[in-house]
Amino acid sequence: MDDEQTKEGVLEALNPEVLAVEALTYDELNSYFLSKEAEKPCGACGYSGEWDIKTDGDQPSLLFVPDYRNPSVGTLFFTLTCPNCMNTRLFDALDVMRILRSAERDNG
Ligand SMILES: [Zn+2]
Repeated sequence: MDDEQTKEGVLEALNPEVLAVEALTYDELNSYFLSKEAEKPCGACGYSGEWDIKTDGDQPSLLFVPDYRNPSVGTLFFTLTCPNCMNTRLFDALDVMRILRSAERDNG
C-alpha cells in the first residue's frame, strides 16, 4: 500500500464531511479566522498584521498529516502563515467545518 492509497482510503471513509471541508471557500475560512481573532500577533516574531491563508486555486489549501502510530488515519488542517517569519498555525479542518456549519444552522 503506498501513501497515496492510504490517504485516499482515509478520506473516502470520511467522505461526506471531507467533501464539506473541501467545499469551504476562502471567504468562509477568512471570516472564521476573523471571528476567532486567529490573527493575533505572531508568537515567533511579534508581527501584528494580517496572516496569509495558503490557497490551492480559489480554495484554501488543505494539509493532510498522517498519524505517526497509525498512518492509515490522519488529520486535515487549514493553515495561517505569518508573512514576516513564515511561522504557521494549524487549524483542524473537520472541526472548523463543523463549527461553521453549526453556526449556519443556529443563524437560520
Ligand atoms: Zn512571525
